Amino acid sequence: MTAPPVRASDRPRVLEGPALLSGLADGPGLVAHRRRYGDLPRVALDDLLAALDRLHVRGRGGAAFPFATKLRTAAEGRRRPTVVVNLSEGEPASAKDTALALARPHLVLDGAVAVARALGAREVHLVLPCERPRAVAAVEAALAERHDRLRTVLHTADARFVAGQARAVLELMAGRANLPVTAWTPEAVAGHRGRPTLLSNAETWAQVGRLVLVGEQRYAALGTVEEPGTTLLTISGTTPRVHEVPYGTPWREVLPEEWAGRPVLLGGFHGTWVPWEDLAARTVSVAAMRAAGTPLGAGVVVCPDEPPPAYTARVVDYLAAQSARRCGPCLNGLPALAAAVHGVADGSGDAERRAAELAGLVSGRGACAHPDGTARLVRSLLALRAEVAS
Ligand code: SF4
Repeated sequence: MTAPPVRASDRPRVLEGPALLSGLADGPGLVAHRRRYGDLPRVALDDLLAALDRLHVRGRGGAAFPFATKLRTAAEGRRRPTVVVNLSEGEPASAKDTALALARPHLVLDGAVAVARALGAREVHLVLPCERPRAVAAVEAALAERHDRLRTVLHTADARFVAGQARAVLELMAGRANLPVTAWTPEAVAGHRGRPTLLSNAETWAQVGRLVLVGEQRYAALGTVEEPGTTLLTISGTTPRVHEVPYGTPWREVLPEEWAGRPVLLGGFHGTWVPWEDLAARTVSVAAMRAAGTPLGAGVVVCPDEPPPAYTARVVDYLAAQSARRCGPCLNGLPALAAAVHGVADGSGDAERRAAELAGLVSGRGACAHPDGTARLVRSLLALRAEVAS
C-alpha cells in the first residue's frame, strides 16, 4: 500500500483556544468539564433549530453543509432517527477530531447527546480511527465517566482515506466493508437500517455541544456577524498543531512564519494549492474562501518542504491506492492521473496537458467524490504553475 506523504498522528500539539479548546490545563475529565460548563441542559428541537439557523452553524467535515438543514431533515422522517459521531478523520494530515477526542471528548459527546435527546433518538454511534489508538482510548475513557441513558455503539473505521466518507461509515455500521457505495438518498433521510441518520464529524458535534452549554449569545461573541463562532485548523508538520481560531481571523496570524513565500496546500489532500501571498491576504472564512476557489475544507493546512509538483505526485499516488477500486475513474483514471503528475514533476513534455485532460475525465463520474477531490488538487497544481510562469 502506498504510504501517505503525511502519517496520521494521534499525538498532535493542541493549542489553547478561545472556545472549544479553552482551559486545556483543566484536562479532559468529566468533573472539570461540568465545573466549566455546568450540567447538559435539555433543549427543545425547535429552539435548537432556530439557534443553529441564526448562527449559520455548518458541518466541519469539509462540505460545510448547514447543520440545521440536516437536523431538520432527520427530524421530519417517520422513523426514529439515529445519531452518529464520526471521529475517523480519514485524511492523514488532519488531527482536529483527534485533538478533540484527547482534549475535549465531553464537548463532542454533549453535542451528540443533546441532539439525540431533542430528536428522541435512542442510540449514539461513535466511529473511531483504528490508526489513532490514543484517540480511541480517550473516547472510551470519557464514555466510562458518563451515564447518558442512551445506547452507545462503537465502531472502528479502517485506516483508509475514504473510510470516513458518510456512506462508507454506514457500510461499516451495517457490518460490511468500510467503503463508499452509490446512494441516491441522503443519510438524513434513510441511513443506518433505513432510519434517518444524523452523521457529523467530531468538531461539528463539539460546536453544537458548546452552543447548547453556553447559549447563543456567548457562542456568537466570537467570529463575525456572517460567520459566528470558531473553527479548528490543523497546521500539518512532523507534529501537527491544532489551532482554534474565530472566523474572520487573518491567515497571516495563523500561518507559521517559516512558510512565508512558499505555496500552501489548503484543505488537505483533496484541497487546493494557494500562493502564500494570496492566502496571507485573506481571512479564515468558509464563504469567502469558497468564493475565491480555495475552500477551507476540513481546515487542514500543509506547506511541504518539497516542490508542489513532486508533493502532489506523491499525494495522488496515495489517493489512487486508497480508492475502493469499484468505479472506472478510480480503477483506471487515478493511476493514470498519478503517472501524469509525476510527468509534470519531472518536466516531461506533454504531461501538463495530459494531467488536465485526465482530471477532466475522472471528474463527476465516481460513486463518491474521491475522484473529484483528487482532480481538484491536480487542477490547482496546474493553476499554481501557470500563475508562477505568468
Ligand atoms: S469513486 Fe472511487 S472511492 Fe468512490 S466509490 Fe467509486 S471506486 Fe470507491
